[in-house]
Amino acid sequence: MRIGDPHLQVEIVHSDGACSHNTSCPARQEETGRRMGETLYRSFNSYLREVFGCRVQKVTIDAGLTCPNRDGRLGTGGCIYCNEKGSGTGAAARALSVSRQLEQGISFLARKYKAEKFIAYFQSFSNTYAPLERLRSLYAEALENPRVVGLSIGTRPDCVPDEILDHLADLAQDRLIWLEYGLQSSSEKTLALIRRGHGLQVFEDAVLRTRRRHLPVCVHVILGLPGEGLREMLNTARCLAGQDIQGIKLHLLYVVRGTVLHRWYESGRYRCLSRDEYAAAVGEFLSLLPPWVVIQRLTGDPHREELVAPAWSLEKEKNLQAIHDYLRTNNLYQGKHFPAPGGGFPPGSGGTTRIDTKASLG
Ligand code: SF4
Repeated sequence: MRIGDPHLQVEIVHSDGACSHNTSCPARQEETGRRMGETLYRSFNSYLREVFGCRVQKVTIDAGLTCPNRDGRLGTGGCIYCNEKGSGTGAAARALSVSRQLEQGISFLARKYKAEKFIAYFQSFSNTYAPLERLRSLYAEALENPRVVGLSIGTRPDCVPDEILDHLADLAQDRLIWLEYGLQSSSEKTLALIRRGHGLQVFEDAVLRTRRRHLPVCVHVILGLPGEGLREMLNTARCLAGQDIQGIKLHLLYVVRGTVLHRWYESGRYRCLSRDEYAAAVGEFLSLLPPWVVIQRLTGDPHREELVAPAWSLEKEKNLQAIHDYLRTNNLYQGKHFPAPGGGFPPGSGGTTRIDTKASLG
């Protein structure tokens, strides 16, 4: 067993000896529900504190890679909401090496949050989309820093060949290694509309191959995508509740200057969610997820200078408060409605969850 298995972190020992590996056990459901009701959702910070016993922060890295949806392999325009920075900091374009970016990030975050340990988060573009040797050297450069205890690799689910997953599984022998897959929606129609360049099946296959190597998977989802209402967003939650995933990041769709979405917004083809709509969507979404899934993010962090709309997306504190208020007002918490009505347990699980006590990092 490796460090950091999110499943193991929520195991509850019953004094009556009830099975702690089966969420159909009423005692476990009640206990888990009560515990999640107190905390509303399973935050990434508390998970990291459970694993490492101290404050751990992610340091964002731009490794100067690209993406098949931008370099011409699949397309050149990218997803409709993506600009030429690929959701990154642009640090690679300023010729900052991985180790220099880490030094700067660590110095800032150690002061701001009194963090003691750090995870190098390869965020910009697709961070498994390069020859293995180049990736090997980038990941090694990050792990050379003695304060870095792990990696989080943001990428597309169609960019993870087995040899790269094998290498990450090797690194995970003594480090915390997460894969972060952009999915955004489980709807094929939406995926085509936003020009992702891959479908749901590719994502499911990537999750399967990643989990075979016992690496934890975090999924990125965007709420407020064009053509999606609450029903479609919650369909994504139900779909993910049945997948073997360990973490999730929820983002608001905001309009960034110079993107296709910007044109759609200007022409009236796209309308942004209001803060209240977003808070309701997040609250309902969380209620459908399994209680052990680690919630790595509840909102996005737009760059002020690139943002077109909505202006309220910049007010992070208020947005988090609105989500917490919605959960409390509606007596909701993560996992309250899991398994989803009509959804049942994941296929093939025999009525139990996919908790795998032998599995490593979730
Ligand atoms: S996959 Fe990511 S980097 Fe590539 S175009 Fe879409 S948002 Fe941009």
